[in-house]
Amino acid sequence: MPDFTAHRHPALAVSCPICGEDCGHWCRTRNGRTAGDLHDARQAEADRQFIEQHGYGAAMVHAASGWLVDPRGCARD
Ligand SMILES: [Zn+2]
Repeated sequence: MPDFTAHRHPALAVSCPICGEDCGHWCRTRNGRTAGDLHDARQAEADRQFIEQHGYGAAMVHAASGWLVDPRGCARD
């Protein structure tokens, strides 16, 4: 089960279906350089697994200590 609070970006909790980078490793471009942004498909997969794990009402919150899961974060907005 992915831990969305363990990395500097929540989507790093899943591997990338585009460039194949493992959990915790930033996406790479086709020529092997570090990508500026994570691939959209990785973000989508992270969203899908986050909702599966925490439900539609949950959201990620960035606090001073790092990322936290707010179980009702989306429900309040
Ligand atoms: Zn990628």
